[in-house]
Amino acid sequence: MKLSIKKQFLLLFLLVTILSLTVLSFMLRTTIDSCFYDYKWAEQSKIFDLIVSRLETFYAEHKSWDKFNGNDIGKMAMKEGCYFTLYDNNGKLIWTSEHIISESNDTSVIHRYWRNIYPVNYKNQMKGKVYIVQFTDSLFTQKDIIFKESVLTYIFISLTVALLLSFPFIMILSSRFSNPITYLQKKAENMIKGDLTTEIKAPSSTSEIIKLSISLDRLRKSLSQQEDLRKQLASNISHELRTPLNIIQNQLEAIIDGIFEPTEERLDGLLQEVIRLTSLVGELEQITTLESNDFIHNIKDVELALIIENVCSTFEAAFQRKNITLIRNLQQGIIVKAQEDKLKQLIINIINNALKYTDKGSVIVHTYMEKDHAVFEVQDTGVGLSDDDKTKIFERFYRVEKSRNRNTGGAGLGLSIVKNIAEAHGWEIEVESDGVSGTIFKVNF
Ligand code: ADP
Repeated sequence: MKLSIKKQFLLLFLLVTILSLTVLSFMLRTTIDSCFYDYKWAEQSKIFDLIVSRLETFYAEHKSWDKFNGNDIGKMAMKEGCYFTLYDNNGKLIWTSEHIISESNDTSVIHRYWRNIYPVNYKNQMKGKVYIVQFTDSLFTQKDIIFKESVLTYIFISLTVALLLSFPFIMILSSRFSNPITYLQKKAENMIKGDLTTEIKAPSSTSEIIKLSISLDRLRKSLSQQEDLRKQLASNISHELRTPLNIIQNQLEAIIDGIFEPTEERLDGLLQEVIRLTSLVGELEQITTLESNDFIHNIKDVELALIIENVCSTFEAAFQRKNITLIRNLQQGIIVKAQEDKLKQLIINIINNALKYTDKGSVIVHTYMEKDHAVFEVQDTGVGLSDDDKTKIFERFYRVEKSRNRNTGGAGLGLSIVKNIAEAHGWEIEVESDGVSGTIFKVNF
């Protein structure tokens, strides 16, 4: 059953009210009954004490029970509704008002609610025992009962009124809890509908609500960033695709219309554009897989020098063509934990960049141990990177202006792929460059 906070509060309130009224009325009744009993007994004892004291006075005056006929004290006791039976020290009956009781038609005499046996003393010595009884038709008088009941009723009414008066406060309290949640729920609905610009402020000072609002606003910001990135990515992709596609379309149209001859050179140019497109689509595919973050599996020990050597040998011809020396300085036996093909991709991208952005000089590929971890380093004598560019080159589609030369063939995705691979493995990448005399890319495994 789905219940709103308000309804839950009301139910809770009702439950607490009923429970507390039941428990309180039970406890009050018991307490008042026992207090009332004590009070009545104290009152009754005063009369009993008076009878005992009159008996003691009689004994003090006569020094024996011989002359006791019970008339005076018996009458006095009867006036107070009490009857007694007196025994001497040996348990011999001296006097009793039982005959009066047995002769009486009064029904009240059946109930002996208040009774007790007292010693009758003279000079601290017991001279007899008296059994005193107060006959009443009920434990309490009608007046007592009315008083007791009215006390109970007043307390009960006051409690009910107090609880009813607290009802508006319960309503206010329940609103204080439910309103901020409703507000945050509406904000979440708005976010689902696409409103990611309106800031979510904490609608109450309750710490949990503040925390929830902060988290929700963080989620909003993150979604907004994701949305911006998605739009930027879509626009970048269309931009990157449009240029080669336009070239291909224009060239083909010109060839079909007979404006251009389909020379080998032209067809090769078209092929280069198609290759560019294919590699761009390949890189985009890689980015999508890498960003899904679940590509890391099949991690195993890989010998760094071996895999780098393998990559370098595939690059040798390209380096030779550009007349750049590729120097390997590889420490043997360094093992890293990696998904082999991803590590290979990372090495290819970094060495490929060193080749692309170096016009003369050399590229040194270096592996070594630094403290407790392995390092892979590629140092080139190329164009270098400014401090500003160093922070941006790992963004998708970012290309330094001077390298926006289509001859390099890159779409600005290579280092983004490197970053994703490194992050997924928990590796760290450093870039060093003074902006003019080459760059060092360092991967700390
Ligand atoms: P691209 O496909 O354009 O090479 P990358 O993501 O690999 O994209 O690199 C992003 C940009 O970083 C490049 O466009 C280039 O300007 C710069 N860059 C990368 N590596 C180097 C390097 N070794 N030397 C100078 N600039 C580099």
